[in-house]
Amino acid sequence: MSKLAGRRTSPVSSGFGSTRVAVLGGGLAGLSAARSLIEMGFQVFLIEKRPFLGGRAFSFYSHETDSEVDNGQHVFMGCCTYYIDFVRALGAYCDATLQDSLHAEVVLDGKRGTLSSMPFLGPLHFMPSFLKYPHLGISDKIRAAYGLVRAGLTDRRKNSPTLDSETFYNWLKRHQQPERAIENFWNLVILPTLNDDVRSVSADMALKVIKEGLLKRPGDAAIGYARVGLSSLAGLPGQRFIEERGGSVLLRTTVRSLLFDSDRVCGVQLSDGSSLRADAYVSALPHDILLDCLPTKRAADPFFASVAELQSAPIVGVHLWYDRHVMEEPFVAFINSPIQWVFNRSLIQGNSESLGQHVCISLSGAWQFIDRPKEELRELFEQEMERLFPSARGAAIEKSLIIKQPNATFRSVPGVSRLRPAQETPIPNLFLAGDWTDTDWPSTMEGAVRSGVYAANAIADRVAG
Ligand SMILES: Cc1cc2nc3c(=O)[nH]c(=O)nc-3n(C[C@H](O)[C@H](O)[C@H](O)COP(=O)(O)OP(=O)(O)OC[C@H]3O[C@@H](n4cnc5c(N)ncnc54)[C@H](O)[C@@H]3O)c2cc1C
Repeated sequence: MSKLAGRRTSPVSSGFGSTRVAVLGGGLAGLSAARSLIEMGFQVFLIEKRPFLGGRAFSFYSHETDSEVDNGQHVFMGCCTYYIDFVRALGAYCDATLQDSLHAEVVLDGKRGTLSSMPFLGPLHFMPSFLKYPHLGISDKIRAAYGLVRAGLTDRRKNSPTLDSETFYNWLKRHQQPERAIENFWNLVILPTLNDDVRSVSADMALKVIKEGLLKRPGDAAIGYARVGLSSLAGLPGQRFIEERGGSVLLRTTVRSLLFDSDRVCGVQLSDGSSLRADAYVSALPHDILLDCLPTKRAADPFFASVAELQSAPIVGVHLWYDRHVMEEPFVAFINSPIQWVFNRSLIQGNSESLGQHVCISLSGAWQFIDRPKEELRELFEQEMERLFPSARGAAIEKSLIIKQPNATFRSVPGVSRLRPAQETPIPNLFLAGDWTDTDWPSTMEGAVRSGVYAANAIADRVAG
């Protein structure tokens, strides 16, 4: 993958201008591919089945609550450099916030702790707050610090097959981590970032997150989010970016199948019966849809077929609109509570002056909640908010909305690496993008954006070479 990794931008005069590329799917991966291809000078057509772009990261107007809401709270970190660069290129970074350095309040049984960075300490930026962190005893801290050092020293490339075949829980146990450190520290980082529990995720993916987020540059662990609806951060500016530079966006257009002429793709069959022809194709479709769009014989090629084994993980968002302010912080994490992270949407969106407050509880790896009735979830989280936030006691909930996303991300379970195909496929003019392709990142916006850049680079290499 390294040969595709750097972002290249060739001017229009590179000769790519006569090459037409069809990008199938307008999630972040498709948008990122389109952006890079346009910057390189290719002619781009983006085809998206929904009436808007953004894929799994979008906002919508809820008639039920008369407000604009995200399909799920999306967070990025300072280490998400491709995502940040992408949002900047779309001209929307002014609508995002990124902390200067990590600062997260973590509450356990009413006791508050803080995990934060001190940038001037370089690689040890995390240590002072870690030493003061009240949710671990002294011996837990020594063991957790040892675990961090071992994580830092582990060469993922060299040990990839072994690390990809064991769970992170197993790795933590092999490195003398006590249950308290696993629950109150390691899982606090892994559950929201990998959307799954330390007991299920592969050691390889978890170490990726720990290394990228905590052990490199101090600013990498900083937390960021959109201050506007998600669609205003990528979907709408992405569409504008493409159209203003001469590209075409076809919304409400479903790709039914890829058409082949001997060993090359010669077109895409669309839902209205028409077909579209290009010189090269980037599929940024969900992996199961791509398999449906390929002829049976191609879909059975082990290069593509392995993606059928990818599993997915759910996220549930519980939105509550209170008649008063119930929290001060932009977000708080909880241990030993069904509430994992709660975000102060009013503060984040710059509405902190209003009398009421909108909060969003984000539940990762939400198997235990996904099938429960919404009314039951509302009651459970209303009570839990009252238990955890004194100001919520006696406050009235004026509106609520529960958003369930059963297939929010793919699961980073052991063995996942060998299921993720490269962006370059055995078919000479077909390229793949999508967070599920091989980016070495988990199922995230950063992974999606990287996949699009890698796909565009692969096309440029093929066309130029
Ligand atoms: C609730 C939730 C919370 C999340 N939180 C975070 C977070 O905090 N941080 C983070 O980094 N990531 C988060 N993610 C993950 C992140 O949203 C995804 O990794 C990323 O958006 C995936 O982008 P993609 O382009 O790879 O895929 P998708 O967004 O799935 O894009 C695929 C696109 O293809 C389109 N399509 C499908 N079929 C067809 C067809 N036949 N023809 C044409 N178009 C088609 C779809 O409509 C879609 O637009 C979250 C996801 C969810 C759902």
